[in-house]
Amino acid sequence: MSTTTTSPAISQELADEFNPFLAMAKRFEIAADHLDLDAGIRDVLRTPARELQVAVPVLMDDKTTRVYTGYRVQHNFVLGPCKGGIRFSPDVNLDEVRALAAWMTWKCSVVGLPFGGGKGGVICDPREMSPGELERLTRRYTANIMDILGPDRDVPAPDVNTNEQTMAWIMDTYSMHMRSTQTAVVTGKPLTLGGSLGRREATGRGVMLSAREALKRLGLRPEDTKVVVQGSGNVGGIGAMLMHREGYTITSLSDMYGAIYNEKGLDVPAVLEYLAENKRLTGFPDAEEVPNDKQLELQCDVLVPAAVENAITSQNVDRIKAKLIVEGANGPTTYSADKILDERGVMVVPDILANAGGVTVSYFEWVQDRMGYFWTEEIVNSRLEQIMVKAFDEVDEVARKYESSLRIGAYIHAIDRVATVYRLRGTFA
Ligand code: GLU
Repeated sequence: MSTTTTSPAISQELADEFNPFLAMAKRFEIAADHLDLDAGIRDVLRTPARELQVAVPVLMDDKTTRVYTGYRVQHNFVLGPCKGGIRFSPDVNLDEVRALAAWMTWKCSVVGLPFGGGKGGVICDPREMSPGELERLTRRYTANIMDILGPDRDVPAPDVNTNEQTMAWIMDTYSMHMRSTQTAVVTGKPLTLGGSLGRREATGRGVMLSAREALKRLGLRPEDTKVVVQGSGNVGGIGAMLMHREGYTITSLSDMYGAIYNEKGLDVPAVLEYLAENKRLTGFPDAEEVPNDKQLELQCDVLVPAAVENAITSQNVDRIKAKLIVEGANGPTTYSADKILDERGVMVVPDILANAGGVTVSYFEWVQDRMGYFWTEEIVNSRLEQIMVKAFDEVDEVARKYESSLRIGAYIHAIDRVATVYRLRGTFA
């Protein structure tokens, strides 16, 4: 008998560990227990308010028609219109979109925004699609979910594999149906059509600010701190660049093909220039190449997982050496890994706090669109900093009060705010 066969029990355990909705639900229940939340409100807050699945037929360049599947989940709109990105990926599935929508509810609440949480996704591989096919997919998906969209209902934004151009198509499709230009229906737009200064850098800036606040508590100065960043895109790349400017030593960055490492520190602007030219990091001179799965295990003070879900799991957590983890991605640490990190005293700034800079500046964009009056980058950045620092302090205080991790502190803080507003509004009958 083969000794390498994985037993079905273990596979189920791992499948559960990797299910993002279960990951969210486990943290939710712990926080709800701390808050002694009654069964009714608990049920309201754990249940997605609305889930829409749509068929998205697209005329391909070769004149064939393909039908894609799209989702938009509105987890909760107690605090205000739903807010959250749209991702295009072959891995999109309803459980993932549900989890991401719930995380948006908690994320908006943690930083005190007047938004509920939503998320959308289309199962597709954008790398295999032409710009024309992507535009038709985006427009038809938007048309098919637009009954539940709107500046006062649900406001999408970029996420994995969607960008400013995608948001411009969503804005235009919605506006064409409404017979008037509606910039506030989507955020993360190009500057020239109602975008906000500082939005593109906002998630990375929030990651840098979260790291700064956490390191103050650990008594570490930027110049003595080595940072490994998983990713090199809008969150990881910009986060690394801003941390590099603050004097941190960024020793490693990665993309889908592999990671690069220099113990003495990478010249981050040069790395990002190289990436823009070559479309990959490997081959960058003045750095060693490291396989992706080994990158997270490199010696460092701070690890910033800013790429995918389920990066830190029961399978690799024991080999992770960082003292601080700052979650740039959504859901990069599994529930099982959390427990082990907690026991080892590793500080984790959770996703719903660490990557909330993006949605915070999305909120600023929505406000500016509705006012028709645009702010300077200095104003955007200083308001972002105020919000992030205040949220960090509040989460830290809650975590101390409940003797919990920062993650559970963030959930308690977020859930408490939504539950309080729900009680005030009451149950509509
Ligand atoms: N997709 C981003 C997130 O996960 C931004 C959402 C938004 O700006 O609405 O936070």
